[in-house]
Amino acid sequence: MAQVELAELDFDWQDEDARLAALAATGILDSPPESSFDAITRLAAEYFQADTVLLGFADVSRVWIKSSWGEPVRELPRKDSIFEMVMAEDGPVVVADTATHPVLMTHRYICRRLEVHSFASAPVRSCDGKILGVLTIFSSQPRRPMALDELRMLESLAEMAASQLELRRLRRVMETCGPHPVRIVKGPEKSWPRRPDLRAALEQRQFVLHYQPEVEIATRRIVGLEALIRWQHPERGLLPPAEFIPAAEENGMILPIGDWGLAEVCRQIQEWNCEMPSLSSVRVCVNLSAPQFSREGLADHVEALLMRSSISSGQLGLEMTESSLVSDQPTALDVLSHLRKLGVSLLMDDFGTGYSSLQHLHSFPFDVLKIDRSFVNRMTQGEQPRQIVRTILELARVMGMDAVAEGIETPAQQHLLDEMGCRYGQGFFYARPMSAEAVTRLLELPGRILPEPDLQAAHAH
Ligand code: C2E
Ligand code: MG
Ligand code: MG
Repeated sequence: MAQVELAELDFDWQDEDARLAALAATGILDSPPESSFDAITRLAAEYFQADTVLLGFADVSRVWIKSSWGEPVRELPRKDSIFEMVMAEDGPVVVADTATHPVLMTHRYICRRLEVHSFASAPVRSCDGKILGVLTIFSSQPRRPMALDELRMLESLAEMAASQLELRRLRRVMETCGPHPVRIVKGPEKSWPRRPDLRAALEQRQFVLHYQPEVEIATRRIVGLEALIRWQHPERGLLPPAEFIPAAEENGMILPIGDWGLAEVCRQIQEWNCEMPSLSSVRVCVNLSAPQFSREGLADHVEALLMRSSISSGQLGLEMTESSLVSDQPTALDVLSHLRKLGVSLLMDDFGTGYSSLQHLHSFPFDVLKIDRSFVNRMTQGEQPRQIVRTILELARVMGMDAVAEGIETPAQQHLLDEMGCRYGQGFFYARPMSAEAVTRLLELPGRILPEPDLQAAHAH
């Protein structure tokens, strides 16, 4: 009894007020279910083979359950909860056998209702480190001690939940600020390029593909290429995709342009195969836009192209962003499964920039996850951005996917990624996108190993 009173005296109410304020700012309590959080509990259940997984946030007196797997629980009393144990530890808690645990052996909910014999729980923190909730996996079996990388996985999933929570908070801040304080001045109506301009460009063969190498970070060996479209405009010069792909997506011209891109890549691979028989291990990737997925027959089209150009399906990769998949999920899933069966690699591009990355990662059969360059860019700015990259790498590993870091520009970024165990990378630090002719010269290098960069040149970029 005395101990309890002492603990209550020690309790830092000021800190608790700040914690509750941080929790309130997210608006998570009593909110409806969200698939992004459900994806996290489901992933935890599958990975740990857990009977029950709870993701809960602690109010003054209760732990409110945002997402549960296995057991539909709405809330639990906070007193004597696992949340309190995690708070006391200020970190994860693992109990391998509740039957021998002095407090838990008589715990009403944990032992009697759930018949839990073991559990592990990791904190879900606010961006300034306050513990707002916990992600807990329960098992009806006593479990072997948790391996370090299992614990890291649980913590990674809890961090994913924390990122979702932070996104929620930011969205609320934006909503409560009302209309954007900065007036956005509308530019002149975007009238160029129109459909006929794009049609003419296609007919006059003004589109070209440039290729950017994808390398194995440790060896600088080229393992793949990404095809990136440009428009060689007779008056305006070489135009990047940002200047015409959005318009093409809007007016439907992306379909014939996309078909051209796919056919051109297959033709180019075929040409390389004739010149360099050893090239079969280099995968050439093409970017696809949303409308290309919603159309019937993408997989059949790709299959026909592969047959016609007699290249092996393993030489072709297709990159797509999360946003290109959300519009029509069931069709996208069918199309992707069909493509996967053909043996074509599927790469999720710009990972982390969509709203429910984890959900997509889980539902679609991707082989490769490309970490968006914004994360790589921020990595040298502090521990938190580095932790995000680590988490993404861990996720890729758990899901059996390769990870490619996009937009590596500096030796420091390369070094950090290498240390974190990221195997593949792409970016100006290795090579910029270049013409097919120029990239052919790189592919002819001994072992396809890129020479060490002239560091000064890399800095100059
Ligand atoms: P993406 O697929 O994420 O391609 C990577 C972009 O990052 C490319 O821009 C590339 O030049 C750029 N990049 C690569 N390394 C670095 C680096 O170290 N630093 C910086 N700052 N940038 C780097 P690009 O070529 O302008 O392409 C932009 C986007 O346009 C692509 O993003 C892709 O979404 C789209 N795109 C490109 N080609 C096609 C295409 O054939 N079809 C479709 N539908 N979209 C395409
Ligand atoms: Mg791409
Ligand atoms: Mg990208």
